[in-house]
Amino acid sequence: MFAVPDVADLKRRACAVVDQLAPRLIELSHRIHDNPEFQFEEVKASAWLAEFLGNEGLPVELGAAGMPTAFFGKKRGGDGPTVALVAEYDALRGLGHACGHNILGTSNVGAAVAVSRLIGEIGGTVEIFGTPAEEGGGGKIPFVKEGYFRDVAAAVSMHPQGGGRPAGVNGRCLAVIPFVFKFYGKPAHAAGNPHDGRNALDALIQTFNGINAMRQHVRSDVRIHGIIRHGGEAANVTPDFTQGEFLVRAPSAVDVRAVADRVRACAEAGALAAGCRVEIEEGPFYEDMVPNAPLNTAMLKNIEALGLPSVPPTDAVGMFGTDLGNVSRACPTVSASVNIAGPGVHPHQHEFAVAAASPEGDRAVIDAAKIMAMTAIDVLTDPALREQAAADFRAAI
Ligand SMILES: [Zn+2]
Ligand SMILES: [Zn+2]
Repeated sequence: MFAVPDVADLKRRACAVVDQLAPRLIELSHRIHDNPEFQFEEVKASAWLAEFLGNEGLPVELGAAGMPTAFFGKKRGGDGPTVALVAEYDALRGLGHACGHNILGTSNVGAAVAVSRLIGEIGGTVEIFGTPAEEGGGGKIPFVKEGYFRDVAAAVSMHPQGGGRPAGVNGRCLAVIPFVFKFYGKPAHAAGNPHDGRNALDALIQTFNGINAMRQHVRSDVRIHGIIRHGGEAANVTPDFTQGEFLVRAPSAVDVRAVADRVRACAEAGALAAGCRVEIEEGPFYEDMVPNAPLNTAMLKNIEALGLPSVPPTDAVGMFGTDLGNVSRACPTVSASVNIAGPGVHPHQHEFAVAAASPEGDRAVIDAAKIMAMTAIDVLTDPALREQAAADFRAAI
């Protein structure tokens, strides 16, 4: 049996552990920042985070859920609920750590260590998930599919934000379906015998045109955006192979599926018009985020306890997607947004990558680790919160 816990004291001590780890967490955040690795290539970041956890008494298994750069570990303090911390550490191609996942990775690891030091007194279990490839590969999805989150009372995470906005908690966001379109045509001399060629770049451009025409006839909260990954080899050769990559986003699974089917039709139409063949690959489905009101309230109180300016969540849909949405449909989930940059600076910009290793970024590592550790302690020590969170989750799913 565990004595009735002094929650305020536990939180104070968890924050003291984070302060004690701070120099090393910040060093690790900078090291990951200086070595950006892209989806499923996070060999260094995953190894460094795993090493840090192991050195702090929370050994983890690298290669969890069939992904070489994923990790998972837990520390059990006795009977009781399980709380999960969810780390990310991948970077963006061409932009480095412009989503600040170096902060996300190290702050979650710091929170996990802080809670693990106290778990023997609290009871229950703390888990740490190392989830690769948030920026497209859906590294949380295998964990969800393998049932890792089935018995988790709450999944806790964070994401750095910009714009000089007050700290907050996650509301809703967009569901995402990624596509890769590969067009196959027929090469020819672009001047000598173009009539013998079939132009795979025309097929891709027609796909863009079809999608752009469609924009007028989708809801204003739909987002469709794409790039040309491969556009041909030489101007004097009719391109016989091109590749485009698109993301389709909408506020619900039903909406995004309906729009995605129309986008798919645009690619088929582009191929047909250009006399080409198209291969369509659909990527991992990112579900929209299910906010959890009781957990949001608990986390906001912890943000306020640190003295950070904060705002409550609204019903507005955030114009982004995350595979934390998939986790939020497997168990009650909460995530803090902590500001690291001023007005006009937001994720996926060069300036945000700079902010991710700035004094503001470093402060966010420490603040977020404390916010998450305190929220995890709330979940582990407060049966009423767990019941309310579970009821809210069941009502929303
Ligand atoms: Zn991002
Ligand atoms: Zn991100």
